[in-house]
Amino acid sequence: MILLDGKATSNTIKDEIAEEVSKLKALGKKTPHLAAVLVGSDGASMTYVNSKVKACERVGFKSTLVKLEESISEEALLKEIEKLNNNIDIDGFIVQLPLPKHIDEQKVIMAVHPDKDVDGFHPTNVGKMALNLPTFLPATPYGILELLERYNVETSGKHVVVIGRSHIVGEPMSILLAQKRKYGNATVTLTHSRTKNLKEITLQADMIVAALGIPEFLTGEMVKDNVVIIDVGITRVDDTTKPRGYRLAGDVHFESVSKKASYITPVPGGVGPMTIAMLLKNTLLACSRND
Ligand code: NAD
Repeated sequence: MILLDGKATSNTIKDEIAEEVSKLKALGKKTPHLAAVLVGSDGASMTYVNSKVKACERVGFKSTLVKLEESISEEALLKEIEKLNNNIDIDGFIVQLPLPKHIDEQKVIMAVHPDKDVDGFHPTNVGKMALNLPTFLPATPYGILELLERYNVETSGKHVVVIGRSHIVGEPMSILLAQKRKYGNATVTLTHSRTKNLKEITLQADMIVAALGIPEFLTGEMVKDNVVIIDVGITRVDDTTKPRGYRLAGDVHFESVSKKASYITPVPGGVGPMTIAMLLKNTLLACSRND
């Protein structure tokens, strides 16, 4: 079994990006600048945004954190987004999801200018992604493709089962892996909460992408020998033995599945750090377009 080490791989990618940034600076070109909008004070969202800001510092990007009250109106939030759209120093920005219930998430996603949408969530970018045209790929599926490429894990002709059909992970992952691309060309089955006899399907998979958000859902008896496992799930599970009072759990029961897997991502240290690295890559792309 080979561990797909997202932490080490993301560090390599960050080193590569940092080198690019040094070159840009030496040539007197613009420093890439990422902004992040955080609404409210949800613990997990704050952690994600802070690690994105920290990652910017690590590679020499400029970063701006826009912190807004939980009670902000939809109209006021849309105004903030318009300001970021019009700020020529900012190459790209993200709005950390989920948003408070009184705000229409779709409206907010649509308000981000597609050229600054480094999360790749705007319908224009989703459409380009689906047509296999150059665009900002959503960071989590993009990170998974990159991890497969760096470890040279063959996907062509393989049967990949994706569990979960969210717009940010499962759905784009299924589209990208089925496309005619270097780490694509797979035969993909997209499964979800209404799928019947999931175990029968996962037992046929050469590779499984688990993105459903149920801790340790996929167990050893649901997979065949030599399967490739990508565990996207990150759930905080109460654990009084930990200083923070919780541990992070993936969607895969690591102990039983890793015994059968040829490759597997750990949680933490697998897909999570890759997601952040790819957000940086998208920001670098946005900056190069602005050059
Ligand atoms: P979501 O909550 O939006 O959607 C979950 C999906 O799982 C749905 O499509 C649903 O149909 C499916 N599902 C639910 N129960 C199921 C079942 N019993 N069988 C089959 N399918 C089922 O999911 P999301 O936003 O894609 O997040 C999934 C997980 O991935 C979460 O734990 C989240 O925290 C994590 N996540 C991690 C990263 C990362 O960078 N590593 C990024 C995004 C999300």
